[in-house]
Amino acid sequence: MRLIAAACTLVIVAFVAVFGAILHERTIADPAPVAQSGASTASAPASVPAATSPITTLAPAASRGGLMPEPQQAVAPQHALARQQSAGQIFTQAPARPAAPAAAAPPAPTANASCPGNPNALGVGRVVEVDTTGGPGFGFEHFKSHDFLQPGEVVLTFDDGPWPRRTPAVLAALAEHCTKAIFFPVGKHAMWEPGIMKQVVAAGHAVGSHTWSHIDLSKKSTQEAKDEIEKGVSAVRWAAGGPTAPYFRFPALKHPPELITYMGQRNVAIFSTDFDSFDFKMRKPEQVRQAVMAKLKKFGKGIVLMHDFQQATAAAASDLLNDLKAGGYKVVFMKPKDSIKTIASYDELILKDQKLPTVSDRPTTSVLRTISE
Ligand SMILES: [Zn+2]
Repeated sequence: MRLIAAACTLVIVAFVAVFGAILHERTIADPAPVAQSGASTASAPASVPAATSPITTLAPAASRGGLMPEPQQAVAPQHALARQQSAGQIFTQAPARPAAPAAAAPPAPTANASCPGNPNALGVGRVVEVDTTGGPGFGFEHFKSHDFLQPGEVVLTFDDGPWPRRTPAVLAALAEHCTKAIFFPVGKHAMWEPGIMKQVVAAGHAVGSHTWSHIDLSKKSTQEAKDEIEKGVSAVRWAAGGPTAPYFRFPALKHPPELITYMGQRNVAIFSTDFDSFDFKMRKPEQVRQAVMAKLKKFGKGIVLMHDFQQATAAAASDLLNDLKAGGYKVVFMKPKDSIKTIASYDELILKDQKLPTVSDRPTTSVLRTISE
């Protein structure tokens, strides 16, 4: 009897175990559809029709797929929040950044065969075309709408030039690496150095603008601020001698809301930054290199703000690009779909401001040369 009872108990235990296991499987499996629907809800704002996105990849790296990189899942709810709160417009406080991706470690560097003379050139990893209709904002310090960079991708931006020796040094470093950047020149500087401005354009970089005289627009009346913006646009366009990009960066990254609206009406993209190198506080090139590389390591990718106007940055440029290559980073070039349209009255104004409109536009560097110091 005992044996029979024990056998019966075993059978019952086995039955309960098997049934329990099936139930458990169901319990684990059941939430899956819920989780999926949750995920699709969270990513719904990211699936805004592709036609409304200002970014289109023109030359994707071979290893990448679709037109728009999928945003990190972890930041999708932030995007939803950003759109709800501000319809993609400015944040007055620094918002939470996208989490540094778990797979932030960039790929191993590969030799670049398409850059003559430099097998270790950075090159351009990806070209994206930017449709600036409506004035999209870029740079997570202020704008959260367009998280288009993949881990390890970098957009190089240089402000406040053109300036003798310094801008040409940055151009030489970029040329050595067959890579492309965005420049945000100051209007006055462009008028003083049209020759250097033309070199920037000739090298195929994107040239936006950064006001006429680099004043803090938040301290000016709206009309004065618009004058500063438009004189800067006209000056850079004149100095460049050809079409320039509908890209703008506010001095000191101060973004008065009414001017954000204005740039939207002008169909000019606004560039903040993903992180500031603070190179203008640095005297030694090594500091600039370390600052940029440390922040890139922290965030994993980003639009980098530097200054071709700064001595330390100009001196660091070549080594910094070597550092980026060695770190496996890829440069993304943001190519404008259209060029900016200047306003005729400001085109006239900047030439009047020159006092002598017929003055030679030979670059200062070819007119004046230091022969003793
Ligand atoms: Zn500046």
